[in-house]
Amino acid sequence: MTLLTVDDLHKSFGGVMAARDVTFTVASGEMLAVIGPNGAGKSTVFNMVGGQLTPDRGKVLLDGQDITRASPQKRFRRGVGRTFQVAQTFLSMSAAENVQMALISCNRQSNGLWAPARDRHRDKAVELLSRVGMEEAADTPCSALAYGDVKRVELAIALAGQPKLLLMDEPTAGMAPRERATLMDLTASIAESQGIGVLFTEHDMDVVFGHAARVLVLLRGQIIASGTPDEVRRDEQVKRAYLGD
Ligand code: ADP
Ligand code: MG
Repeated sequence: MTLLTVDDLHKSFGGVMAARDVTFTVASGEMLAVIGPNGAGKSTVFNMVGGQLTPDRGKVLLDGQDITRASPQKRFRRGVGRTFQVAQTFLSMSAAENVQMALISCNRQSNGLWAPARDRHRDKAVELLSRVGMEEAADTPCSALAYGDVKRVELAIALAGQPKLLLMDEPTAGMAPRERATLMDLTASIAESQGIGVLFTEHDMDVVFGHAARVLVLLRGQIIASGTPDEVRRDEQVKRAYLGD
């Protein structure tokens, strides 16, 4: 089932065409990687899906609904979740408290009192932490966790918003190779079991070719290839322009 449709997006900054004719879809449960050299337009495309940028032309549809001009907050409520390149947790708070905060901010009936609201969301927070294999760290301050574990807490925070689509901007940046594989295996299994579509940008080709169902290659704002990891790896234009072999 098609979850996200990106149709003919264009965006220029002054004279620079950061994105042109960008068209693709993401299905529920699918992991789509966007790759390309620095300046290729990955972040621009990402930000047009997340709502941080408005395209000059083209459309973004979520579940068939036009969200091209919706604010990031509105997209979040419609089911567009996001993680960031640098983990965004409150380090002095425990893993559970971080997820509880996310649950409170997603829950509009909150009465404004922090402690009772936090306690109401404790069980759900621990359940979300268990989905990312971090329930045992529920009461550990994030400052005492390894970076890879903080990234898993961040994934639980993103899941608190019950996303249909998860945007992950270089999710494994700053992580050791083994931690990378763990995080992406986890992301893939959550995406598949819960039908969440994942759009991610990534520099590590092992992560891309090991975890993406499909890969989109951007060069100077345009899609030069798309397909399964094998198809993309064999593409002559991709080899010449990007993979360098
Ligand atoms: P990537 O994420 O693939 O490295 P970007 O989407 O950040 O690429 O950038 C694509 C092109 O658009 C680059 O040439 C970049 O300099 C330009 N660009 C991106 N954002 C802006 C901006 N806010 N203002 C001006 N130029 C920008
Ligand atoms: Mg970028």
